[in-house]
Amino acid sequence: MIQELQLRILPEQAASEQSIAAYVAREQGIDMRTIKSVRVLKRSIDARQRTVMINLKVRLYINEFPQDDEFPHIDYGDVSGKPQAVVVGAGPAGLFAALRLIELGVRPVVVERGKNVHDRRKDIARISREQRIDPESNYSFGEGGAGAFSDGKLYTRSKKRGNVDRILQIFCQHGASVSILSDAHPHIGTDKLPGVIERMRNRIIESGGEVHFETRMESLIVEDDEVRGIVTADGREFTGPVILATGHSARDVYYMLHDKGVELEAKGIAVGVRLEHPQQLIDTIQYHNPRGRGKYLPAAEYSFVTQVDGRGVYSFCMCPGGFVVPAASGPEQIVVNGMSPSTRGSAWANSGMVVEMQPEDFGEQFSAYGVLAGIKFQENLERQCYLNGNCKQTAPAQRMTDFVNRRNSYDLPRSSYSPGLIASPLHFWMPPFIVSRLQEGFKHFGKVSHGFLTHEAVMIGVETRTSSPVRIPRDRESMTHIRLRGLYPCGEGAGYAGGIVSAAIDGERCAEALAAHFTGKPL
Ligand code: FAD
Repeated sequence: MIQELQLRILPEQAASEQSIAAYVAREQGIDMRTIKSVRVLKRSIDARQRTVMINLKVRLYINEFPQDDEFPHIDYGDVSGKPQAVVVGAGPAGLFAALRLIELGVRPVVVERGKNVHDRRKDIARISREQRIDPESNYSFGEGGAGAFSDGKLYTRSKKRGNVDRILQIFCQHGASVSILSDAHPHIGTDKLPGVIERMRNRIIESGGEVHFETRMESLIVEDDEVRGIVTADGREFTGPVILATGHSARDVYYMLHDKGVELEAKGIAVGVRLEHPQQLIDTIQYHNPRGRGKYLPAAEYSFVTQVDGRGVYSFCMCPGGFVVPAASGPEQIVVNGMSPSTRGSAWANSGMVVEMQPEDFGEQFSAYGVLAGIKFQENLERQCYLNGNCKQTAPAQRMTDFVNRRNSYDLPRSSYSPGLIASPLHFWMPPFIVSRLQEGFKHFGKVSHGFLTHEAVMIGVETRTSSPVRIPRDRESMTHIRLRGLYPCGEGAGYAGGIVSAAIDGERCAEALAAHFTGKPL
């Protein structure tokens, strides 16, 4: 017999399938030995009250074992000899586009400027050790894209649940834990992501596709307003319609498109800092317990949002039990971001704390750059940060309370940011538009969450790459650029996604539109 139940139980009762089975057996008067398996279908933490509860939807298998897999598996056929498409960029958008093309009978040729995810890891380690950024292999560039060395958070505000489930299932098919299918806030972790990405790449190659690393697209081949392929930095040509999934850090791609007269649009971004607290403090606040999270609860998360002077101020990409990382992609830049391992076991909690900016907020000095003003604004702030960080990857930082009170920090707390921190008056050199709003935002967050505004927290500059400052406009139906046929602007860099899952969904959508173009059949 199969029975589905909704449960609201204590963390220790929800700790394992065994403990859930024991709870249900006791409450329902079922013989524990008859429960052959427990499958958790949904899991969320309710920490609104003093006693933290776990909400579960479970499926019990009584006197029988599950007959099915926990998710449907996709059959990827052989696409050797099939029509060919070029996918530029092996981030989530590019990889999911390539896999979907295979499903639909199109042969993907993936071109990636960075290294494979294994070799990329060494360049990333070198950033902290040697304070040097390789402009082709870093936290932004390389196999897996910006998502590879991340927290691997897989939640999205997308309302299309079916699409999200599909993406999560494909991650599972390539080795991610099935817990991501049931968790309300699923994440994979930076220790597990590279293996998953590698399996996706192997799948593309085994199915007859190609993946080229250390191969940077330099320009497009355009004939009569139709993109027919790309030219790479080493002079090779790859032909076919092009899915352009190069992410928002590939500024050279925007400059190249702009120089060639390809239509682009300016869009808003969010800019601020990484804020780091001791995880123990966040656990204490969020779980209302001076002793912290105890043995059965995960490192606590938080999410804040408010409006200050007509602009949103909010936490972004929170990494419980994580690390702040140097995410610049070129020389003379400091950009920070966050990642965490699957256990979320570090002593720190970090999050972006950012202020929404519209193109008109970038300021007079950038307006002459037109659609590229946002990029120039980012470049300028990242360079200022580098100069204030001692011209290395050591990041300028300030205690949270000092920032709010416009005081210098004379010392800094311990931090997870491995290149090191330098005390710096962020309130003095960051743009006043951002400073004043962050100060008010922090005061507000400190009021709604007692203890959050604290001397123990450190702000680390700067978080500039929350989304793309440019959109590459495309037609809603065909998904091709508004003028150039055969060009499918895709993912975060094109302005159609924000985060791993939404980039993956957009990758699939572009692949579907491209395949429909080959077959002449709408999907
Ligand atoms: P990208 O991932 O940026 O991929 C673009 C790819 O294109 C790159 O691999 C790049 O090397 C390649 N490329 C660029 N130019 C060229 C060229 N000219 N030729 C060939 N290849 C090129 N999001 C989440 O949802 N959850 C998280 O936990 C999370 N944590 C993050 C942590 C960090 C440290 C960072 C940096 C980002 C994080 N993000 C997270 C954001 C997420 O990674 C991005 O939203 C997502 O990766 C965007 O996917 P994409 O495929 O559109 O672009």
